[in-house]
Amino acid sequence: MKVNYSEKGASRYVIGETPLFDQKNEMFKRPLWDPKMLNLGKKFYKDKIMPKNKPGYMLKDQAAVNASWYLDDLCHRHTEKGGGKNLYTWDWNGSFSYPRAPSGLKISDNDPISVTQGIKQVAALFGASMTGICKLDPRWVYASSYYITSEGGVEADNTVPDDYKYVVSIGVEMDYDSMMYSPAHPASMTTGLGYSKMAFVAGLVAQYIRGLGFKAIPCGNNTVCNIPIAIDAGLGEMARNGLLVTPELGPRLRLASVLTNLPLVPDRPIEFGVKNFCMICGKCARKCPSKAIAHGDPCPDSHNISNREGVNTWHINAEKCLAFWADNGTDCSNCIRVCPFNKPAGKLHDMVRWGINNMRRLDPLFLWGDDLMGYGKRKNAKYFWK
Ligand code: SF4
Ligand code: SF4
Repeated sequence: MKVNYSEKGASRYVIGETPLFDQKNEMFKRPLWDPKMLNLGKKFYKDKIMPKNKPGYMLKDQAAVNASWYLDDLCHRHTEKGGGKNLYTWDWNGSFSYPRAPSGLKISDNDPISVTQGIKQVAALFGASMTGICKLDPRWVYASSYYITSEGGVEADNTVPDDYKYVVSIGVEMDYDSMMYSPAHPASMTTGLGYSKMAFVAGLVAQYIRGLGFKAIPCGNNTVCNIPIAIDAGLGEMARNGLLVTPELGPRLRLASVLTNLPLVPDRPIEFGVKNFCMICGKCARKCPSKAIAHGDPCPDSHNISNREGVNTWHINAEKCLAFWADNGTDCSNCIRVCPFNKPAGKLHDMVRWGINNMRRLDPLFLWGDDLMGYGKRKNAKYFWK
């Protein structure tokens, strides 16, 4: 799909001072320490959830969700630097296990164009659905990391050395069909799998860069804020649902980042009509079961400390969102499922996306067509298991 290039990346949403965000203030961490959210934390993290005799909430559903997160679990929780370990580790012992190349070799950094192309090629081979490059804007690094252990939450050092000037932003697609079952467990399976794939791809890309003789820090939901980095790297735009929306997959992807000192060629930020479309659409806000998504115009006012200051966007009320997840017994992706940018690949859908970008006066028509065709409608979970 043809897109326009924007002068600014995530800075286009910044309207004032935006102090570094402390990860302990984000939605999944506050229930571990914020007195206001401790009860919710108990319900979300500790209380056992019995399977139900209801499609989409049975033991086989719960087991598949649990399995989908397995690799992510091995790489987050209990940590070294930045809130990650294993595939998310910051350090490498510098030796190849196979093939046994001598240590200390370094690729020439005087051809960043071909090195950048090589990184994108390898990332795609390892499983990235999309890859972009940007310079690291220090505003998107967490003030400190906060990670979860079986005993509770712990703060971790998150000091990224100054020579990490570049970021490889990685998008991993989530399965379209499974997503249509949100907020039941089949959608949670593709979410968990997305997180496990993030760890897999980011960890392997980081190891590739280390093998070239440079340093790399792979990040999942730790160390940095992945959405503004992805915007800087030209993957997409910010949307009403609080997510990155991309031309190819809409919001149906998960994001990881690899920070590096390897000189790379940045991509250009893009603009393809998301803000205008969100202004007339509002479907995610109407279909959000917890009313956590704002109607109306973007607004810099925060709902609570989980929103970033100084950013003019549609802030999500994370407290309401997480409360619904706790009641639901699993996560929710309705705001991804119903989004008109979330479509499977196909010529018709490419045409609609092109139209949204190039014929903005017809946005209401595209929206009407989306509703008429029944896109985004929840599937009954009884049809998930064949
Ligand atoms: S995940 Fe569900 S509850 Fe949370 S904002 Fe999205 S639609 Fe609303
Ligand atoms: S559902 Fe509509 S308003 Fe919400 S993010 Fe998608 S396009 Fe924007």
